[in-house]
Amino acid sequence: HLTKRLTAVASYVPQGARLADIGSDHAMIPINLVANGKVASAVAGEVIIGPFSRAQTAVAAAGLTTQIQVRLADGLTAIQAGDQIDTIVIAGMGGNLIRDILARGSQKLKNIQRLILEPNVQADVVRTWLAQQQFMIVAETILREDQHTYEIIVAEPSSQPVVYTAQQIKFGPCLVRAKTPIFHAKWQHQLLTNQRILANLTQAQQPQPAKISALKTENQQIMEVLN
Ligand code: SAM
Repeated sequence: HLTKRLTAVASYVPQGARLADIGSDHAMIPINLVANGKVASAVAGEVIIGPFSRAQTAVAAAGLTTQIQVRLADGLTAIQAGDQIDTIVIAGMGGNLIRDILARGSQKLKNIQRLILEPNVQADVVRTWLAQQQFMIVAETILREDQHTYEIIVAEPSSQPVVYTAQQIKFGPCLVRAKTPIFHAKWQHQLLTNQRILANLTQAQQPQPAKISALKTENQQIMEVLN
């Protein structure tokens, strides 16, 4: 049984995909997708021994040790040529880490048809990297679970250069188009937080003009998108 967040991530894995889940922890996504027949086999990568052991134990308990290869490996080094991986999931990490994992393993991305990424912060860093590498964002989801807001970014290689505006990078090209209530609530909340910080900063003993102007710029961007 997957959480709402992991269900949404898993929903973007194509039927019959050759899947690698990097930073798999409990290997919930590979186990679920193999068990329900959406994928025939999968690789679960983990760089830390604790989560790696958890993944191994969970895969064994599910009786899927022949279908799911659990590998102790850093980032995309978990992927071997013979796996013929075409779909990569990287979920539940910061955007900087996701970007670094992808950038350090870029030679493993040649045959990739789809990236499914769930950065818990700094989604803009991921979007910037995707555009630079000519991956087009084909879908995005924003969802709430346990008082947290999650964003999922689905990207595919493009034959054309990929160019996004600053607004699309910050807010997500598909999310900006959809402007769901959760999207509204997220940025409304950010706006209020920024306004509170600004009020404190303008009363502070030490003037912090750079911080103030950065917050004002962000608030301007948020107000434009919420309009
Ligand atoms: N993907 C699962 C999810 O979304 O529920 C687990 C998320 S967990 C918060 C992040 C996992 O990424 C941790 O288990 C951590 O060990 C793993 N991780 C961090 N850096 C990694 C790297 N360079 N290569 C592989 N795994 C990594």
